[in-house]
Amino acid sequence: MRQNSAGNNKFLKEFNQAILLDLIRIHKGISKADLAKMTGLSPTAAGVITASLLEKGYIHETGTGESKGGRRPVLLELKPHSFFSIGIDMDVDYMNVLLIDITGEILFEKAMNMPQNDDFEKTVTRIEETVISIMKEFKISHDKLLGIGISIPGIIDSISGKVVLAPNLGWSDVDLPSHFNRLHGVPVKVENEAMASAICEGWVGACQGIDNFVCINIRSGIGAGIYTHGKPYRGVAGSAGEIGHIVVDENGPKCGCGNYGCVETMASTGRIVEQAIKVVRQGSASCLNLLEDIDHITIDQVTEAARNGDEEAGRVLAEAARYLGIAISSLVNTLNPEKVVIGKDFVKYADLVLESIKSIVARRALQYPASRLDIVQSSLGEKASALGAAIIPLKVLFGRS
Ligand SMILES: [Zn+2]
Repeated sequence: MRQNSAGNNKFLKEFNQAILLDLIRIHKGISKADLAKMTGLSPTAAGVITASLLEKGYIHETGTGESKGGRRPVLLELKPHSFFSIGIDMDVDYMNVLLIDITGEILFEKAMNMPQNDDFEKTVTRIEETVISIMKEFKISHDKLLGIGISIPGIIDSISGKVVLAPNLGWSDVDLPSHFNRLHGVPVKVENEAMASAICEGWVGACQGIDNFVCINIRSGIGAGIYTHGKPYRGVAGSAGEIGHIVVDENGPKCGCGNYGCVETMASTGRIVEQAIKVVRQGSASCLNLLEDIDHITIDQVTEAARNGDEEAGRVLAEAARYLGIAISSLVNTLNPEKVVIGKDFVKYADLVLESIKSIVARRALQYPASRLDIVQSSLGEKASALGAAIIPLKVLFGRS
């Protein structure tokens, strides 16, 4: 019994601490008296918790507020650069790394190319070395690192945290955090890359204050992070959001999943580049013909050509956008979201195709859900997943996970 009671007290203390810390985050400069009023805690209890938060270094005093009779109240806010979090977004050929502090300020950001022949062990070493070098550079001790979030293009078991399948990375049934031997107990959380973007958009991006939204990421594959009622929707085992496998053309190419014409095979970055190469091979009139290395045309080259008025490049992008619009229409009918945010490589050509996607969805989706929908590009661009991954340990601290 006594143990239970001690356990409950500890839980309650941590719970109240997280609530106060979250209010201090939201209100940026708030007094103990106002914290007590907002939470229903007694002024003494609020005082004890804030004293503990000050002692641990999470918060600091920033001056005094206006007096409502009596002494001017001391204002509290999160202490910048006191605690940190690292986010890593991985794909086949790159690793995007980002360091934030407790306030969410981005202190460091780096996109690194990854050799495509790296095996799993080499990738683990690369992640460890990257984290350790950031900690050294910013003089961060292990106890000041709240955690590391890693975003992966694949299915994550939402209960065990294992990577069930990340086909593009060649990983299956992997317990990634258990392989880090040099991070000395720093919490590591693995998240699906589209869900990491959704976490980011909900916390600091286009979906703040919105409860029902979908973030779609387009790069080597296409995936979605779904939020319903203000919470991530993961399905029964974590694979919700695999919208890349919505079939949009039965006669389309074979997908890695075994089906034909999945939207991933019709509108991913790989497909766009592949179609651009085809344009050149067929000898169509296009400025892409002038490129030296035709086998390695990049998405940037295709979008630049389209932006400069190249009709063939524009047609390739428009076709991909049309298929994406068809898939989004199904999504809108199924989920009735308030907002759809499209990110990653899409932001490179969003200005060229977003309006046509909106009109395809307006035409194809049911009028009722379509009329309550906003479709936007991500303002956070390619860093949304890395930032979302870095935000995960912060959400745990603020009791928002
Ligand atoms: Zn598929």
